Amino acid sequence: MKALVKAKREPGLWLQDVPVPVPGKSEVVIKILRTAICGTDVHIYNWDSWAQKTIPVPMHVGHEFVGRVAVIGENVTDYKVGDLVSGEGHLVCGHCRNCLAGRRHLCPNTSGVGVNRAGAFAEYLAIPQVNVWYCDPNIPLDILTCFDPLGNAVHTALSFDLLGEDVLITGAGPIGCMAAAVARHAGARHVVVTDINPYRLDLARIAGATRVVNVANENLPQVQQELGMKEGFDVAMEMSGSPAALNALLENMCHGGKIAMLGIVPDNTAIDWSKVIFNGLTIKGIYGREMFETWYKMTTMIQSGLDISRLITHRFHYTDYEEAFSVMRTGHSGKVVLNWEE
Ligand code: NAD
Ligand code: ZN
Repeated sequence: MKALVKAKREPGLWLQDVPVPVPGKSEVVIKILRTAICGTDVHIYNWDSWAQKTIPVPMHVGHEFVGRVAVIGENVTDYKVGDLVSGEGHLVCGHCRNCLAGRRHLCPNTSGVGVNRAGAFAEYLAIPQVNVWYCDPNIPLDILTCFDPLGNAVHTALSFDLLGEDVLITGAGPIGCMAAAVARHAGARHVVVTDINPYRLDLARIAGATRVVNVANENLPQVQQELGMKEGFDVAMEMSGSPAALNALLENMCHGGKIAMLGIVPDNTAIDWSKVIFNGLTIKGIYGREMFETWYKMTTMIQSGLDISRLITHRFHYTDYEEAFSVMRTGHSGKVVLNWEE
């Protein structure tokens, strides 16, 4: 089968022939229909220091996918050939305290599809049946293939009560824009999204932000004043990975405000801890998606009108992956989807 392989320890991905995976006893093999490109895949393409110490070579990568079950292992009873499925890319151990308690997203022994083991940028993918998510066939394939990053947004956004609250999102990447859509859907009042990239701020507005802020030429205290907010944001989601954004966020919270941190800030990023302590802030780190409460919630929100379709800005056939990755690198994109059908 064809796959996008990290074949050499240097920047790039290579379209190569690799063996079709054989399912383990409790695995399913999925015929991939669509994949989406994640920022992680761009790190792997670029071969940055994180990728160099994390990604085995050679290996095909990718973890955002939707497809149809093609082969099932002998112990698989819950899925049948032809089922439309996506899946959780985080594989967990199943026997640690958190796994046993049903908090699988907190497993300390997590490994990742397309990061630690063969990925989804391929015609076929094998994953354990416990990682499979059965998809509503009424939801378009291009949306279903974004369930992994949408799940990041949903997990973050639903960490705190948003109904009637004023919400700040720093970073209007695909996930920040999805979080803006979720916050509106969940009943927030003001949904303010910051970035330094005007293209991305336009996407955030389209997604549902009530006010977008280019922090290169505007600041949040002014925006609060304009909106008649007197005490700061009730809930914030950090989705940029920028230390400057994190510090601006901390400056603009109400006392007792709640912060969910998805963005991956550089090691040893400094913050003003007095803001956290004297203002009684709560900070929650977010990793991945809750298995499978997040998947349930994103499905039902899409079924009840959550619309992220306009955040998918580019579509390519998988053979045009070089163009797809170069679009991702420009920053002038939302989600970029690859089609793996003939
Ligand atoms: P992205 O890189 O596409 O978007 C980040 C955005 O932040 C960009 O649009 C950038 O212009 C903006 N930004 C940069 N500096 C800023 C500043 N000072 N103020 C405001 N915005 C600023 O990323 P994404 O794919 O949308 O993901 C969002 C973040 O979440 C990334 O940091 C990513 O690494 C992280 N992530 C974490 C998890 C997890 O499980 N914790 C999962 C996926 C992604
Ligand atoms: Zn575990």
